Amino acid sequence: MAQRPIALAVQGGAGPISLESYKRNRPAIGEILGKTAPMLVDGASAMQVVEEAVRLFEKHPSFNAGVGSSLRYDGSVQLDATIMDGSTVMGAGVGAVSGVLYPVTLARYVLERTPHVLMVGEWAAQFARECGMELVADEELIVPERRRLWERKLAAKETPEDQVLSSGGTVGAVALDVEGKLAAATSTGGLVLSLQGRVGDSAILGAGTYADAHSAVSCTGVGESIMRVLMAKVCADAVVNGMSPQEAAELSVRVQGDNTPGTSGAIVVDNRGALGLAYNSENMYRGYFTPAEGVVVPE
Ligand code: ASP
Repeated sequence: MAQRPIALAVQGGAGPISLESYKRNRPAIGEILGKTAPMLVDGASAMQVVEEAVRLFEKHPSFNAGVGSSLRYDGSVQLDATIMDGSTVMGAGVGAVSGVLYPVTLARYVLERTPHVLMVGEWAAQFARECGMELVADEELIVPERRRLWERKLAAKETPEDQVLSSGGTVGAVALDVEGKLAAATSTGGLVLSLQGRVGDSAILGAGTYADAHSAVSCTGVGESIMRVLMAKVCADAVVNGMSPQEAAELSVRVQGDNTPGTSGAIVVDNRGALGLAYNSENMYRGYFTPAEGVVVPE
């Protein structure tokens, strides 16, 4: 009997990424795939695998999620995340929440333990506490490089308006498991210098994250632009309408770029294990796993 297809793709953000940064952080993508691909091979669910991949990114100081998140205009850290199960078309997110090391897990708790789709701010943090999550001070999420970037931008008198043209990074994962189920998850510290209370696409199903019976999608880029075109849903609907994941990813990036400012990227997997990865920015941290190719992290 033919093996059932499985596949996994991850993204660590699209934007003005220099070749030097790309090369420096490329091994981390390989490591994250190296830890999560075997889970998929061993029969873990797509939901388990995307959550774990995003948690590994959130723990890694080089990526803009969890530890290593961007600083808001006032120097605080507020996080967005979503997770979505394509087999039930159920998903949930958190927006502008502080003190949470693993926002993707908090999003999963919102999905599993509440009837809601989105919880925000201090109430989401309170819910995290009720779920037994330990809350940390912003200092534990801020790394020196992000603080220096924030200081440089403030010194240059940049404003939140200046940031909507350049994304700060996001992390995400999409997977197809051995049972044919799809899932997607996304997490971010958002755009540097954004105002407190700003919520981006990574908290919104259909914008930064989407999954149904046909595909799972995670997007990165300027949230304000991605939300206005509902980029993840554009991508997922294109797969429903017969496009390959690669064509659908390219279409969604084009729809964003043609209609709204700034740049973006998308990763997508369909229910046959085909993958699509596209971006219209300088670069996108990305990689994938299929049984045929193994772990691939583009040069
Ligand atoms: N999409 C994220 C946001 O706007 C940032 C990014 O992906 O660069 O919050």
